[in-house]
Amino acid sequence: MGAYETLGLQPVINAWGTVTAMGGSLMAPEVLEAMSEASRSFVDLRALHRRAGEAIARMLGVPAACVTSGASAGLTVAAAACMGRNDSTIVAQLPDTTGLRNVGLILSRHRNRYDQAVRLSGMTLSDVGTTASATIEDVASAISDRTGMFLYLAESEFVPGSLPLGQIAAALAPDGIPLVVDAAAELPPHSNIAAYLEQGADLVVVSGGKEIRGPQSSGLILGSERLIGYCEAHCFPNHSIGRGMKTDKETIVGLFTAVELFVRRDEQAAFDAWETIVAEVVCALCPVDGLQVRRGFPTGPGVQPVAIPRVYVTSVRYSAEELRDRLLDSDPPVAVGVENDEIAINPQCLSPAQVPVVIRAVIEANA
Ligand SMILES: *Cc1c(COP(=O)(O)O)cnc(C)c1O
Repeated sequence: MGAYETLGLQPVINAWGTVTAMGGSLMAPEVLEAMSEASRSFVDLRALHRRAGEAIARMLGVPAACVTSGASAGLTVAAAACMGRNDSTIVAQLPDTTGLRNVGLILSRHRNRYDQAVRLSGMTLSDVGTTASATIEDVASAISDRTGMFLYLAESEFVPGSLPLGQIAAALAPDGIPLVVDAAAELPPHSNIAAYLEQGADLVVVSGGKEIRGPQSSGLILGSERLIGYCEAHCFPNHSIGRGMKTDKETIVGLFTAVELFVRRDEQAAFDAWETIVAEVVCALCPVDGLQVRRGFPTGPGVQPVAIPRVYVTSVRYSAEELRDRLLDSDPPVAVGVENDEIAINPQCLSPAQVPVVIRAVIEANA
């Protein structure tokens, strides 16, 4: 009997995506093997943290990387680094930000539940523009001698009220204000990381437990050696704002191994496999009485990554929320997303063998 069963829980078929609430992603056997091996001996954790960061940076083709306990922790550490650099007095002082450049800027349209992670450092966030519109002049006039960083939400790059990353980078450059991109779930494609840095991001924060398929409680901050050095000062295992955001030896080794697999993965083959699943689901559900079915891509914020096709389904009998709940009540439970008034079936975390189960569950949930 597995622990889930002992605890009275049933494994879920995940047609929602790499959402944290469903467990993020599944680790490859090689990752679990490496974690198990790491668990069998002691190691200098500080050296492991640093060496793994260096190796991961080389693999991802970026100057430097800092391992964190998730993208959320990465945002906290990045904000602390922007305010405090590697000044040991400030490292110990945070979250008291007296005397520091302690205001972060963010487009109103980019506000989201994860920006609390920035505020955890002691930094406050100040909105630029309105949720309907923002101009680059709004950004320029918001900058003051208290501005410590600019937080940019990658998934909202193209929504109304957003501005292109490159334009914001150009507006910040004269004052040397660091631009931090929350790209937690914006992989694939792999090329996004380099693209954000090329467009002028100073730090890019990603989750290790989403498409990278490392431990769920892992993440990365990527950027220049200087800024990543500052991040390390505020990050576990140092006594700092990040001390409680622990990355144990198994997590660090697991993430390192997952990145090795991630950079070798045939991305086109993955996209082809997702298209095949989407086509199979569309084909099976289209003829079903009472369902409307289409292939599409997310258009709003909050549904990542935007590059993966979805199957959108509406039922004449049930609202999207009702259909989602009925699917979660299926045996086995099937998790799907809801976008506007449609359910969204995301192939990202589905195995080919699970596809017929999802199809059957949707047909039965609509009955
Ligand atoms: C998932 C997510 C995070 C948090 O990532 P963790 O690795 O779970 O801490 C932060 N920001 C966005 C936009 C996310 O989607």
